[in-house]
Amino acid sequence: MNQYLKAVIVGTGFGGLGQAIQLEKAGIRDYLVLEKAQDVGGTWRDNSYPGCECDVETHLYSLSYEQKPDWPRDFATRSEIFTYLSNIADKHRLRSKIRFGVGLTGATWEPDQCRWRLSTTTGEELFCQFLISAVGGLHVPRLPELPGLETFKGQVWHSSLAVTAVLAVTAGAKTFIESASAERIRKFH
Ligand SMILES: Cc1cc2nc3c(=O)[nH]c(=O)nc-3n(C[C@H](O)[C@H](O)[C@H](O)COP(=O)(O)OP(=O)(O)OC[C@H]3O[C@@H](n4cnc5c(N)ncnc54)[C@H](O)[C@@H]3O)c2cc1C
Repeated sequence: MNQYLKAVIVGTGFGGLGQAIQLEKAGIRDYLVLEKAQDVGGTWRDNSYPGCECDVETHLYSLSYEQKPDWPRDFATRSEIFTYLSNIADKHRLRSKIRFGVGLTGATWEPDQCRWRLSTTTGEELFCQFLISAVGGLHVPRLPELPGLETFKGQVWHSSLAVTAVLAVTAGAKTFIESASAERIRKFH
């Protein structure tokens, strides 16, 4: 089904949710949000490694129109920020506007029609007057090109990729990964 909309927002991190709230406040309801993942939260959904937390005082790392005076600590944890974003999506009833599991794959401006033609991972085409990108700059993990990495025999992982219940412990010259249940410790390096 092809659909023409006033605006399409791409992404549901701070940027995308904030944009959606502003459209709602402006009385613009003819919009959709595309999110390739299955939930809101962006950075704070994807990164769940132990110790992941904000390095900016969280009273500042909040939306100015969604102040949260009762942050439990100065530098909130990843799950606290993720909950904050989830609650904002619920409070502003944004989830019904979000197409989860739909990624934007292409956007072409059609000058004669004064509209964007959007292609998506589901094959659906959308058209809109305004395209708002909030895709973030850090959500695609990148492994560094370290000399010798290709011959390294140990386990290599990226902190944003499926590392749950794992704790990295640095002790002297050795680094270990310890499962949170402490059942076993694997030598990492
Ligand atoms: C581990 C980590 C810690 C950080 N800590 C801090 C911090 O302490 N302080 C600070 O100021 N900043 C921090 N940042 C930076 C952080 O990314 C930004 O502060 C902010 O959260 C980015 O929000 P965003 O909405 O722009 O993008 P993101 O949160 O990255 O959200 C982008 C969203 O767009 C979706 N998306 C992307 N491409 C597509 C597509 N083609 N189609 C559909 N959906 C798409 C993604 O799935 C994602 O949900 C951190 C980043 C990381 C990775």
